[in-house]
Amino acid sequence: MPDFDDVDASNLHRQVLYGTSDVGRPKVEAAKARLQDLNPDIVIETHDAALTSENALGIIEKYDVIVDGTDNFATRYLVNDACVLLGKPNVYGSIFRFEGQASVFSAADGPCYRCLYPEPPPPHLVPSCAEGGVLGVLPGVVGTIQATETIKLLTGIGETLVGRLLLFDALRMSLAYTTRAGAFLLLLTEVHPRLLDLPPQPYPAGAPSLPGPQQLSINEAPLPAETAPVGPPAPPAAPEA
Ligand SMILES: [Zn+2]
Repeated sequence: MPDFDDVDASNLHRQVLYGTSDVGRPKVEAAKARLQDLNPDIVIETHDAALTSENALGIIEKYDVIVDGTDNFATRYLVNDACVLLGKPNVYGSIFRFEGQASVFSAADGPCYRCLYPEPPPPHLVPSCAEGGVLGVLPGVVGTIQATETIKLLTGIGETLVGRLLLFDALRMSLAYTTRAGAFLLLLTEVHPRLLDLPPQPYPAGAPSLPGPQQLSINEAPLPAETAPVGPPAPPAAPEA
């Protein structure tokens, strides 16, 4: 669990691990205390630092499954790239306004985050939390989906989100998932270059012409042909490796 931040009162409506008595404490310390209160037998290693190109490989290589809870694109690409280089499954979740996404990237038989979004969007296209906002319950919803995928990966049960992108729309209360074949097939054609090492900090921003992840909306994304409502599960959309 790496984080360099302290708990702030403005976090409490969406960051479900913390309470008012934690305000001002380092987040890793408060999160560890809360989780060990739930289960004193679990072992939690904290890293009270920002994840950087210098420390990412050393931290990530110690764990079997990585859960991406990042709130910025530079760190999200860093986590992706380190997971690809180390061959670690990366349980992805993100939120924006009233919508959330989840997937499992960088598994042995599936695509990575860059297969879906090859480069970060340019900074001027990325709204801040204050500008974009987020519904307070969304991190809990998406985080619980990520926890579900993590349990499935560790126990080997069920059908994970490898090769599929789950889209949650809180306003419509809809869950859909898509193979986004066009995006995931990038894996097969290697549109993004093979990663050989982590780029230096700061992680480079994308070219202005590239579509950014923040532009993907359930309502706007060109998904109909490949989107199916969650119900009877569609066949796993694993790209043929
Ligand atoms: Zn990839």
